[in-house]
Amino acid sequence: MLRRQGPLAIATVLLLFIILHLGFPPDAHAPRTTGTTMLGGIAFLLMTSSVILSTRLEIFEDLFGGLDRMYQVHRVAGTFAAIFALVHLFGVPKELPVGVDPVANTLVPSVPLGILGLILLVVGLFIALNRKIRYSRWRPTHKVMALVYVLIIGHFMTAPGIFFERFSASGVLLILAAIIGVVCLVYSIFGMNRRTAVRFTVEAVNALERATEVVLKPVADMIDFKPGQFAFVEVQGKGWSEPHPFTISSAPGEDRLRFTMKVLGDWTRKVREELQPGRDVMVRGPYGRFDAAKTTGKKQIWLAGGIGLTPFASKLRAMQPGDDRQIHLVYAAREKQDAIFLDELKARAAELGNITLIPLFSEEGNFARTDKMRENLPDPLDTYEYFMCGPKPMIEGLMKGLKEEGVSRKNIHTEAFALR
Ligand SMILES: Cc1cc2nc3c(=O)[nH]c(=O)nc-3n(C[C@H](O)[C@H](O)[C@H](O)COP(=O)(O)OP(=O)(O)OC[C@H]3O[C@@H](n4cnc5c(N)ncnc54)[C@H](O)[C@@H]3O)c2cc1C
Repeated sequence: MLRRQGPLAIATVLLLFIILHLGFPPDAHAPRTTGTTMLGGIAFLLMTSSVILSTRLEIFEDLFGGLDRMYQVHRVAGTFAAIFALVHLFGVPKELPVGVDPVANTLVPSVPLGILGLILLVVGLFIALNRKIRYSRWRPTHKVMALVYVLIIGHFMTAPGIFFERFSASGVLLILAAIIGVVCLVYSIFGMNRRTAVRFTVEAVNALERATEVVLKPVADMIDFKPGQFAFVEVQGKGWSEPHPFTISSAPGEDRLRFTMKVLGDWTRKVREELQPGRDVMVRGPYGRFDAAKTTGKKQIWLAGGIGLTPFASKLRAMQPGDDRQIHLVYAAREKQDAIFLDELKARAAELGNITLIPLFSEEGNFARTDKMRENLPDPLDTYEYFMCGPKPMIEGLMKGLKEEGVSRKNIHTEAFALR
């Protein structure tokens, strides 16, 4: 779940900027200039937030509720930055503020830098939001955003009306943000934002009905993780391209690391068809905050849709007898054959005693909906705490249904299998 602290911190900085900008505007500014430069400043601060989030620092995972949430905020901040920047461009008065020398103004590159930065920002955003563009193609293009950031700094640092003649209070805040942003950018560009890679070798590649289980043996150290966390998996060797995020489906304490991968595109198909035991794999992580053990709710619903079972598989494999939570695992799949690890889940449920398994197969008319849950659960729906992982439409439908049933948003935790 997205935690409030992170977005609140961003909102506070924006508010401070607005107060400083409106409270202490340069004397010569017309109200329209004050308003439009404020929008430009907000756009820049949102871009800076995006840049800071791309550092993947653990502290931000705590503030935002995990890396997947950080990337969601990163995307939203980038989108609003482009909108505010566009309004700034079209709204800013074309005549210079009083006191700015027109000759000096032609010698500085503020306008071309701003326009170029904005064009690249809008194109980059269009590519980022277009799901049809494959991740591997999109990834290199996204690096252009670093250049956009530098261009925008160049734009406002060389705007004579604001910085060379009158340092405004809000301008100083922007300069401070630019310094922090550039440090974060350098940190991310040189890969310092990636957690140390731990080397493994592939021990087995098990073809399940609709997924592939990859079993990794540590070369030296095992990574330390909590059930429900994910890691970036990077197969070594030509043709394996970029790292991919997967939830760790084994339990902490096992001597092997297991990932269960649904065949979705080129990379996951290659894993199923070509990955062989003995190949080196680098794993970076763990990331994520999808932790059902941390909450106080004793009556929990774990809702898994298809491959969304993986975080719960890890939790179940890690659970010890005597756990005082009453857990209903609602496992939704298209048909029985699709339900990976079903027999293991049944065995675990029988062994642990506090787990009730509720399989729902849509082929049999049992969909993951609140009416089906009401039929299968002993207590009213608003008495449980929810942990959900599955396809976006399923999660969105359930969120709506649970809201109608009076379930508080703070009792619903979701994991998004998407970073982009
Ligand atoms: C936090 C998290 C946990 C996940 N856990 C699992 C899991 O346990 N099991 C499972 O089967 N899948 C999981 N996924 C999804 C998995 O990462 C993608 O299905 C996989 O990367 C698809 O790669 P592809 O090239 O085969 O497919 P494509 O068709 O190229 O990609 C499908 C989608 O996956 C995303 N994606 C692709 N490549 C990457 C990448 N390198 N980095 C980030 N996102 C990418 C893109 O949004 C894309 O739209 C998880 C994703 C996230 C973000």
